[in-house]
Amino acid sequence: MKRKDFIKKMALMPLANMNLNLQELGNYVEQLPKTDRMPLLFIGHGSPMNALANNGFTDSLKKIGKTIEKPKAILVISAHWLTMHKTYVSVNPFPKTIYDFGGFPDELFRVKYEPKGSPEIARELVNQVQYTQILEEHSMGLDHGAWTVLRHIYPEADIPTFQMSIDYSKPMQYHFELARELSKLRNKGVLILSSGNIVHNLRQVVWSEKAQPHDWAVGFDSLVKQKISERDFSALANPSTFGQLLSHAHPSVDHYLPLLYTVGQIDKQDDIFYTYEGIEMGSISMRCFLAT
Ligand code: ZN
Repeated sequence: MKRKDFIKKMALMPLANMNLNLQELGNYVEQLPKTDRMPLLFIGHGSPMNALANNGFTDSLKKIGKTIEKPKAILVISAHWLTMHKTYVSVNPFPKTIYDFGGFPDELFRVKYEPKGSPEIARELVNQVQYTQILEEHSMGLDHGAWTVLRHIYPEADIPTFQMSIDYSKPMQYHFELARELSKLRNKGVLILSSGNIVHNLRQVVWSEKAQPHDWAVGFDSLVKQKISERDFSALANPSTFGQLLSHAHPSVDHYLPLLYTVGQIDKQDDIFYTYEGIEMGSISMRCFLAT
């Protein structure tokens, strides 16, 4: 099957090879504590075609939108806004949908997801953060790490949304430390959504509906899950100790880094709930979780 035909078909199908542990994934709604703090969200976004899909993954996103308290604003930290030697936050009041991909059907390029920006809260972030200098950026829209998932979580696009970039020149520990300072926004009604993938190796994608997950993909996904569940977050900020599993799962670490912005903020008060898991196309982990 050609890649394009396959992509079209994928949009209509449930994800293959879901190894769902329903007991663990199913019942978090009743367990969510009542709190003034917004939850933290890590979403494995996978293929941009998930924007058009109707499957177990998109159902799990819809459920999150219906379950958690409606935020005042959303800050997205996505694998698709990488900058070098600087960290930016978008103060654009009207971010446009960015189609930062190629080779997908026209239908995907017609999707618009355009909530307002949130320049006031973005500037608050600029002023609050001490760990590094955050710079204002005036023209950034929403990249597909943001809009392909938010379209399912908040389909009305009625919550102001802005992005912060990931400084790709910095070591892992930098992102972990910077994350701690962002957590102040949680008390102000801001949902902080990190969008990447716990396993992301496009070179090893299997273009088949029946793709079996690679062993190393299952291995790395399980290892990260274990570290999250054990709250060994410093291990996640130092993943070189995972050896070859890391280089298989992430030939480049762009989709791993958003994870550090979630786990770097989790504190003792937070409970962690896995909202989705599974390996897409052999080499992309769709694991998602929320901390609240
Ligand atoms: Zn991506």
